Amino acid sequence: MIKKFLIGLTALTLTSSNVGAEPSIIDKPIPWSPHKEQLIERYTQEHYGRVQTTIVPQAVVVHWTACSTFETAFNWFYDEADADGELNVASHFIVDRDGTIYRLTDETALNRHAIGYNWCAIGIENVGGVDGVEDLTDEQLDANVELILYLRDKYPTIEYVFGHYQQDAARASGLRIELVPDYYAIKPDPGPEFMRRLHERLQDEPLTFFDE
Ligand SMILES: [Zn+2]
Repeated sequence: MIKKFLIGLTALTLTSSNVGAEPSIIDKPIPWSPHKEQLIERYTQEHYGRVQTTIVPQAVVVHWTACSTFETAFNWFYDEADADGELNVASHFIVDRDGTIYRLTDETALNRHAIGYNWCAIGIENVGGVDGVEDLTDEQLDANVELILYLRDKYPTIEYVFGHYQQDAARASGLRIELVPDYYAIKPDPGPEFMRRLHERLQDEPLTFFDE
């Protein structure tokens, strides 16, 4: 009986070490004041018709920063409000060129990074893509794979992974909500090549991707 239990435990340990272990993550939080909470509440009321400051993650949206350094991206997301006094853009994670993963906010905080999906999506930014050049690195690909497996295991509600440029295809998920007419922006990030490789690496996982 004891032996059987131990064998079972070993098998479980081996299985769970293959997928979903927390990768090395550096916490580098952006400010999160009561004022920011108010900005989020205002945003969700306007765009989703309800007040919401946290999410139950159902999707991961992959981005590139269109800038060449982590610091530039971090500073871009740092301020709580944008120039119009509205909720500033931000994502949950930034992956640097060498694959270093930074966590900027709580994983279940509501961040403004993908029109229509902020109410249910975790955002991963990858440093790169300046002038639309598809230049994300192998190290970033590895880090995205690790990070998505970790998130998928931690939040079994996550079913979809898509690139920001796939926002229209992702409407098939039924997740898109946007109450403001014509509130839309065409996005190229993080490029079809990166999404194709990410999809390939995660094809055996119970995750839904969209045509690259
Ligand atoms: Zn994006």
